[in-house]
Amino acid sequence: MTVVLCPRCRELGYLKEEGRQGTSRAYLFVVHMRSEGGRRVQWKCYLGPKGSYSHANSVLSLALANAFEEDYEVVARLAASRLVEKALLAVEEAERLAERGRLSAEEAKVRKREAVERATKALEELKRYVERCAERLREALEAG
Ligand SMILES: [Zn+2]
Repeated sequence: MTVVLCPRCRELGYLKEEGRQGTSRAYLFVVHMRSEGGRRVQWKCYLGPKGSYSHANSVLSLALANAFEEDYEVVARLAASRLVEKALLAVEEAERLAERGRLSAEEAKVRKREAVERATKALEELKRYVERCAERLREALEAG
């Protein structure tokens, strides 16, 4: 699936093509997912018929690598929030499996801790990277 920055709500999501009953046309959507208070919330943004709508056309060429300049901060924030959401989903999944008796309480605990530690480590590395980036900018100003 292609991850895109949604031209409607400016969040990251997956591009999805769907046919509609009784028609031969294909329609484009961006499917978004977010974890809210322990619940998985999914929503879709409709882009229009494939190939005939400006939003649909623009999103097709909007790979993250060619996001508009002003989108980079949004993309960075969203990437960080995705790391958090992915870990929260893993925590919820472990809890669900434990409730159904498919994981022991101890195994669920280990899985939850691993998911949280993995995401925390990634976020801390990201933080250090961002700090180095800001440092480069300050140095450029002082050198000039
Ligand atoms: Zn959207």
